[in-house]
Amino acid sequence: MIDTLAISTQPTVATRLPEVDFATLEFGKTFADHMLVVDYQNGEWQEPHIVPYGDISVSPANSALHYGQAIFEGMKAYKNQQGEIFMFRPYDNFHRLNSSADRMCMPRVPEEVFMQGLVQLLRLDAEWIPSFDGSALYIRPFMFATDGMLGVRPSESYRFMVITCPVGLYYSKPLRVRFEEKYVRSAEGGAGYAKNAGNYGAAMYPTKMAQQEGYNQLIWTDASEHKYVEESGTMNAIFVIDGRVITPALSTSILDGITRRSVLQLARDWGMTVEERKVSALEVLEAQANGTLQEAFGVGTAATIAPIASIGHQGEDYALPTPPADSFSHRVSAALAAIRSGAAPDTHGWMVRV
Ligand SMILES: *Cc1c(COP(=O)(O)O)cnc(C)c1O
Repeated sequence: MIDTLAISTQPTVATRLPEVDFATLEFGKTFADHMLVVDYQNGEWQEPHIVPYGDISVSPANSALHYGQAIFEGMKAYKNQQGEIFMFRPYDNFHRLNSSADRMCMPRVPEEVFMQGLVQLLRLDAEWIPSFDGSALYIRPFMFATDGMLGVRPSESYRFMVITCPVGLYYSKPLRVRFEEKYVRSAEGGAGYAKNAGNYGAAMYPTKMAQQEGYNQLIWTDASEHKYVEESGTMNAIFVIDGRVITPALSTSILDGITRRSVLQLARDWGMTVEERKVSALEVLEAQANGTLQEAFGVGTAATIAPIASIGHQGEDYALPTPPADSFSHRVSAALAAIRSGAAPDTHGWMVRV
């Protein structure tokens, strides 16, 4: 592991650890003691710092607030039974952060700042990483514009930060979803493949509408015809039809999820047929009608696998069978858990020791 970058560290004077009840963690509400802060000014990245977690101040004219130059990542670190700390595929998050940065005209974060920043932050807050089944430290790297200037143009200064939260088992009860045929999350040529803040703000209203109708989440369809599946909420969508693993192919409107990549890799390792292509809503509904739709689920870092119980289309709800214990979604979620806990060999080199 690279150990070259000196990061000045101001440790907290009073850890908040004793106040935390690890048995009742709510996602994204409890933050570890420290955070990483790095500013970009005058065309270069400045010295990184680790400081106590706390509020920051920005100009009221901050251009991220006005024009949305803001991107983020979501990843996890795990502690195994021996107390060793590992991150899951952090280089994938690093590359995706920089691809989001390119799309939003923001500077790329240097690899050593990202990796060393994470390593040193996690070592300092090691006590915050839970080790019970299903738990993890959720890591939120993010970058935003910091110019205080109302002109519409890329900011000249930025801040990259990393904050972390301990999280317990993310139990996702099987979801009721429906196809969205009016609003779009993202369009080809847009910024849907980037993890930029505005994508999420704009998705809240259509999601709220669906929730008022009793659904948990939407299945987004393509912006031009509303015929093809895009994603499920803020997760990638995967279907198992007649033993084949089928998922929408990546495009500029779909986010290239690391959980998606990992799930497809395991399916291929197990000799299953994996199809990355256009998946129409009609195909999914026909498969449901003729009994070949075995499973549908969302995949993402927070939940790993979120099973779908029913899919709504034009006012009708179509139920999916309850996946049996040996279903693909159960096996793949167990396999990922085993790799992360060290119980199974990490044949793809996904775990990076901290
Ligand atoms: C983050 C995200 C995902 C899942 O990506 P992971 O790397 O698996 O966490 C899928 N879709 C959207 C829109 C996302 O923001």
